[in-house]
Amino acid sequence: QKKEWEKLVAEKTVSEDGQHVELAANIGTPDDLDGVINNGAEGIGLYRTEFIYMGRNELPSEEEQFEAYKTVVERMAGKPVVIRTLDIGGDKELPYLDLPKEMNPFLGYRAIRLCLEEQEIFRTQLRALLRASEYGNLKIMFPMIATIEELRQAKEILNEEKGSLLANGVKVSDSIEVGMMVEIPSTAAMADIFAKEVDFFSIGTNDLIQYTMAADRMNEQVSYLYQPYNPAVLRLINSVITAAHQEGKWAGMCGEMAGDELAIPILLGLGLDEFSMSATSILPARTQIKNLSKQQMQTIAKEALTLATATEVETLVKNKVLK
Ligand code: PEP
Ligand code: MG
Repeated sequence: QKKEWEKLVAEKTVSEDGQHVELAANIGTPDDLDGVINNGAEGIGLYRTEFIYMGRNELPSEEEQFEAYKTVVERMAGKPVVIRTLDIGGDKELPYLDLPKEMNPFLGYRAIRLCLEEQEIFRTQLRALLRASEYGNLKIMFPMIATIEELRQAKEILNEEKGSLLANGVKVSDSIEVGMMVEIPSTAAMADIFAKEVDFFSIGTNDLIQYTMAADRMNEQVSYLYQPYNPAVLRLINSVITAAHQEGKWAGMCGEMAGDELAIPILLGLGLDEFSMSATSILPARTQIKNLSKQQMQTIAKEALTLATATEVETLVKNKVLK
């Protein structure tokens, strides 16, 4: 089977009935790039920039960040690279920021909430990203957006930084796509509105599932409620993809679910355009998709949306697809 996968490294991901989807990789640092390239990723769907800020005593400089982002887009040689702005807080802490202890860190001061408040941190990162955009196909993505005001404010700050770089004669790509993660149910419910103001969505199921089911993703005691195949989750995913397509935008997924053998047939059927996963999942997923008809998966996905439980969805896929 390993041999079979290796032949697929240089290929695009095409379903049995000829439909292309993009299989991208999630990375945490430029050191992950060898794995990404060896496993034939068609792009990077999530670069978690938190790691640049972690395991040190002070904030990373603009220059240091610029070098990291530049390295990644250059090595991906024109393939899309989605870089997520800082998503600190929740389970990820920064000792030197001295953030207040919270009762519910996953519902607290994190990610874009912190960036909109601590603007110097955010602006420094945005400048590094904008400067790196000249060296490849860089896309910017905001994490943990809950309201349209947050999205607008983040975009405005980005535009301000772009304007001042250009005014200073610094080159910035004029074709940077700007998107957001859909990982809070409020944004999934309002996806039609959000879709008008972004270039793309990336569904963050790791958080979307925990917020939809009100089940902490780190808590073993309630892990039975952490259900990727729950029809409630599938319906949200469906409406996000539909909303994106209605506005001519693309929809990806960068949560663990995107690389899950059981979820892939349904996601393909729902019309997901980009699947971003750990590099080692790419070739197995490409092999799986090669053998699936997107049209047939549309029927399966439609049926899944009518079911009552996660177990019923699982049984459907096991009986009708994986066999
Ligand atoms: C997600 O929430 O699905 C996601 C990809 O982000 P993270 O796992 O970094 O929270
Ligand atoms: Mg998340």
